[in-house]
Amino acid sequence: MKIIRTVREMRELIKATRKAGKTTGFVPTMGALHEGHLSLVRESRRRCDFSVISIFVNRIQFNDPADFSSYPKTFESDCNEAEANGVDCVFAPEESELYKNQKTFVTMQTLPDFLCGASRPGHFTGVFTVVSKLFNIISPDVAFFGQKDIQQARCIEKMCEDLDFPVSIAIMPIIREREGLAMSSRNVRLSSDERERALVLFRSLSRVEELLVNGETRKETLRSEAINLLDGARARIDYVELVHYDTLMPADTIEKNGKYIFALAAYFGETRLIDNMIITPEGCLYR
Ligand code: AMP
Repeated sequence: MKIIRTVREMRELIKATRKAGKTTGFVPTMGALHEGHLSLVRESRRRCDFSVISIFVNRIQFNDPADFSSYPKTFESDCNEAEANGVDCVFAPEESELYKNQKTFVTMQTLPDFLCGASRPGHFTGVFTVVSKLFNIISPDVAFFGQKDIQQARCIEKMCEDLDFPVSIAIMPIIREREGLAMSSRNVRLSSDERERALVLFRSLSRVEELLVNGETRKETLRSEAINLLDGARARIDYVELVHYDTLMPADTIEKNGKYIFALAAYFGETRLIDNMIITPEGCLYR
């Protein structure tokens, strides 16, 4: 497995890969790898000849400097995990390699306006900018994203459509701990009490699914049920929202033939966690 630090070397390697007739799969990450990331790597290996992951903690997507400085950094063990899982190349540039007095940023209208975009000003601009740069450097055939960050994944699909990036986007299911907590690099910050309480995220999704299957279609009923459960676990709620899958705009009711996302964000202590499920009137499609 190659570990590459510079844009020039990365481009050279990709050029050689192309010349050899191989397709490239790409998994962008901020490191602190867990099974969620590795599930994306496995899918990349299944679908592409050559798999690249990037490990880069992208400062410009952090709206909270404390979140950036305490973001877990485990580069050596990440490389071991990547190698053990068949990654061909880790691209891990220094910040100064990617950002040299950057003046150009990628923004998007509407799709980032609700959910995480509303509570994390500037976050998505940071994400779209770094993903655009990485796509231009690596020029993957397929890039893999987790449903865990569904708004990010849906926006990146739209960005590729709008800016004609010749990259297909694959959105892969959420990998969870045994009790249902969605895996996240930030989970290591939870105390055992916070971790226990955070299980309420998955319980809330399950409860909403139950109501849905029993015919409930009103957002406010679904929301208040989830809010009650979250309050009961002393979660500090950021949002509990139902949005249309296509537009990511809030929806009031679940309509026939519709596809929606029911999404949650809440703090347990200082740690903000998110979770979601993709639903139709018949129930949960993915969660
Ligand atoms: P991050 O390192 O948090 O930026 O995540 C890198 C990629 O891994 C993103 O596409 C995430 O959506 C995805 N990811 C993070 N957690 C999970 C999970 N629990 N299951 C599946 N994918 C995940």
